[in-house]
Amino acid sequence: MTGEAGIVVVGAGQAGFQVAASLREGGYRGALALVGDEAALPYQRPPLSKAYLAGKTDAEGLALRPASFFADHGIARHVASPAAAIDRDGRRLLLADGTALPYAHLILATGARNRPLPVPGADLAGVHQIRGLADADALKAALGEAERIVVVGAGFIGLEFAAVAAGRGLAVTVVEAAGRPMARAVSQETAAFFRGAQEAMGVRFAFAAGVTEILGSGGRVRAVALADGRTLPADLVVVGIGVLPNAELAAAAGLPAGDGVRVDAFLATPDPAVSAIGDCARFPSPFAHGLPGDGTVRIESVQNAIDQGRCLAARLAGRPAAYAALPWFWSDQGPHKLQIAGLSAPGDAAVVRGGEAAFSVFRFRDGRLSAVESIDRAGDHMVARRLLAAGTPLTPEQAADPRLDLKALAMGRP
Ligand code: FAD
Ligand code: NAP
Repeated sequence: MTGEAGIVVVGAGQAGFQVAASLREGGYRGALALVGDEAALPYQRPPLSKAYLAGKTDAEGLALRPASFFADHGIARHVASPAAAIDRDGRRLLLADGTALPYAHLILATGARNRPLPVPGADLAGVHQIRGLADADALKAALGEAERIVVVGAGFIGLEFAAVAAGRGLAVTVVEAAGRPMARAVSQETAAFFRGAQEAMGVRFAFAAGVTEILGSGGRVRAVALADGRTLPADLVVVGIGVLPNAELAAAAGLPAGDGVRVDAFLATPDPAVSAIGDCARFPSPFAHGLPGDGTVRIESVQNAIDQGRCLAARLAGRPAAYAALPWFWSDQGPHKLQIAGLSAPGDAAVVRGGEAAFSVFRFRDGRLSAVESIDRAGDHMVARRLLAAGTPLTPEQAADPRLDLKALAMGRP
């Protein structure tokens, strides 16, 4: 066993990096280890399906900090060394290479992995997904050779990638199980806008379509077979059908972990020496009121990873506070920027403000503002974040009234 029992963070992604950096910023001086299974310095994932693929930024530009930051701040990096088990009785994290790291507190920040496409042929050469740098590098190289692309899943990854590929003049068809893009995440109005915007970029869609098989020859993909009998020729397939939380370590250690590691409002598991943050954590959110389920959510976003990292670091430094940050998201698709504040459900009412080219959709659940989707309206998004974070009352009628100065309302001015 090596070293002093301090804080050990498993997962060197957005949330793991943030909690380690915030612990040092907050004055924590004890031992601090960051255990990651990837080789690269902790990096940002959002550009992997956007600027990085489009060649507008390189791997160095993705790193959250240079290597010197970790040395200067006394953060011991365990690189490319997956954690294999948690010995809760002995308070040790066991790595796959046999190292045992003692801990006083263990933070699980293991993120999520892409859901595999459960059909024959999904392992053929030419079938890609995007989660990490290595995936993006492989896809970038394959893009140079591709002519006909099928994207499975019209979620964030699928649409962002489709926009990049169409921007290179490639033929792209997006196959989606639901009847519209981003069906669970956004309103019909926003979905319709992005469908039109993608089609204007040259992207084709097959909605309400199930993939039954990926067909190949010589071990390489050549087409995608759909349940309705159609066959879409393809030399490159990108699968973006959602993620599964990396919660197995916690589950194997006897911690509650169903669709995410279960934590309380302070991001603590039932074991006071173990917490969880980021994509892997399922937590009670004040913004989940009226959502289906038990009032807990698992949020897959940079905002959530950063804010939970900060919240947990503050607790471990003796300043506990329940996690109550407003969720917000963004997606860049070709020339358009979608920004979402709050958490919506598919049945939430929708009120549109603005014109056809740039507008915001105000969503209401049980008469309360639940979320705002802004398309190329960054000002609205900032106002929406203030309104939602403060819980400022707003009626659908007010939202629909173009004369109402929402910014003034958000700033508390009458
Ligand atoms: P991650 O960043 O995934 O980090 C978890 C790390 O833990 C990974 O390195 C993983 O390999 C490692 N790990 C897992 N198990 C172990 C183990 N046993 N031992 C050691 N290490 C382990 N969000 C937005 O808000 N906006 C965007 O535009 C956006 N774009 C995205 C584009 C792409 C292509 C992807 C993949 C994600 C995007 N996201 C975006 C989501 C965002 O990147 C994630 O929500 C965020 O990275 C979550 O941080 P995390 O630390 O919880 O997980
Ligand atoms: P996602 O946004 O959850 O979208 C997955 C999409 O695929 C959904 O529309 C889903 O429909 C559909 N789908 C599921 N199974 C399918 C199937 N068998 N065939 C066809 N379509 C299917 O997930 P993602 O786009 O894969 O993104 C992965 C992760 O990266 C997520 O954590 C996401 O938040 C993150 N990410 C975020 C951003 C951003 O915030 N801008 C950008 C990129 C990636 P149903 O909903 O009906 O299942």
